[in-house]
Amino acid sequence: MFSLEQFPLPFKTKDLEPYISERTMNFHHGKHLATYIKNLNDLSENTIYANLPLHEIIIKSFKDTNAKKLYNNAAQVFNHNFFFHCLSNKKNSIPEEIIKYFGNKQKFYEDFKSIASSVFGSGWVWLVVDKNKALKIINTSNADTPIAYGLKPILAIDLWEHAFYLDYQNRRADFIEDFLQNLINWQFVKENLSE
Ligand code: MN
Repeated sequence: MFSLEQFPLPFKTKDLEPYISERTMNFHHGKHLATYIKNLNDLSENTIYANLPLHEIIIKSFKDTNAKKLYNNAAQVFNHNFFFHCLSNKKNSIPEEIIKYFGNKQKFYEDFKSIASSVFGSGWVWLVVDKNKALKIINTSNADTPIAYGLKPILAIDLWEHAFYLDYQNRRADFIEDFLQNLINWQFVKENLSE
């Protein structure tokens, strides 16, 4: 059994204002993530998935055609906890490795924005490291998560409407821009890169 307490926010709910409101954070963490956790518990109870670590549930259920719903909820628990750790009100700078890899800071922002703006419907955009140690910006649809494909996530943005609608309504591009300029926890990104 998982609980919301196992996935605490790494900041206070009002810390990301004015970019992400306390109201959004209360819903996003306290309601949306909580519901994915409850669904995951309900769906895994008395199955081979009960008591497995979250990563194992995701990898195993991804290959199980009868466990699509379980996979979706498990993936969303991982995705949300990862995304919340990508956010911070502490302005730290983009790691040199990323600047070098993309050529310059602007190129990284442009590539990220271009992929993010092409997401249709609900989904996520990720910076990942692939099996050949290459850095890539990718998007996943709905609940889908890079770890199911053997990709190591470095950075994520949630582009489901619930992530931004209370604060940005239809202005998704502004949310993406604020994420890139004002919200990324580069320290967390750095730790992911060096692991
Ligand atoms: Mn979300």
